[in-house]
Amino acid sequence: MAIPCTVQAGQYTIRGLSLGGIETCMQVPQLGLLFDVGHCPRSLAATPRLFITHGHADHAGGLVGILSLRLVYSVEAPLEVYAPHWITDALKDVVAAFERIQDQPYKVNFHPLGKGDVVPIGQGREVRCFASPHVLPTLGYTVWERVQKLKPEFSHLAGPEIGARKKLGEPLFETTERPVLTFPGDTTIRLLDAQPHILESRILLLETTYIDGRKTAQQCLDHGHVHLDQVLERAADFRNEHLVFTHFSQAYTPGEARAIVRDRTAGRFKPAIHALLPDADTWPG
Ligand SMILES: [Zn+2]
Ligand SMILES: [Zn+2]
Repeated sequence: MAIPCTVQAGQYTIRGLSLGGIETCMQVPQLGLLFDVGHCPRSLAATPRLFITHGHADHAGGLVGILSLRLVYSVEAPLEVYAPHWITDALKDVVAAFERIQDQPYKVNFHPLGKGDVVPIGQGREVRCFASPHVLPTLGYTVWERVQKLKPEFSHLAGPEIGARKKLGEPLFETTERPVLTFPGDTTIRLLDAQPHILESRILLLETTYIDGRKTAQQCLDHGHVHLDQVLERAADFRNEHLVFTHFSQAYTPGEARAIVRDRTAGRFKPAIHALLPDADTWPG
């Protein structure tokens, strides 16, 4: 099984694995980017860009591994690594140490980021960085896109009329931007108030490390994580199209997590609910 888990969220695919405390690495192939690299499945190693949220090993510890896979697969382009600026030098040290150990250079470019920074990724899209509440300083990432929208004063026009007026060069449209996909990394429920734009993001990848009484909501908050109870309390606030739950604790088998998410969220959310889980009832590895 090359790719542990896949979720189709509208036109975007989320592939990879996010197992709380063990490994998180998720690819969105349509955007050519990877979020975090606890351990990179070999089929995702050729992704051009990697965005790292924070320094916990289950999110950043696989950097040397993905760079090594790219050498094995002769990927010519350097991996573009975007990471919080406060861990970038240490990540460079790790890579340099392994270059010495192997006596072989890696192909990699580092881009240190802070909150508020913007990274253009082509096709009118850009990634914007925001602070995410966790036990370590963490950056979350939202992909924004620019789209052409009919100006409100023309919304009453029928299709053929719009076409005719457009041909005459009338300025019927305006450019607007919208959040397409958000990954806050490890976070807490406080994120919803700190970064309300995530509630409008068409796709939101949200960690729900615990999803039943095995841990309380307060315990989750104390450890810098989200509990499904907290998400259910705020269910009406989520105006996304797709809400993808990730980063489940290994206290749950994939089958348990799937059933609990399904039963507890049924009929309560506007967005379609997904859980990033393997089909098999065991976690890979
Ligand atoms: Zn984690
Ligand atoms: Zn963490």
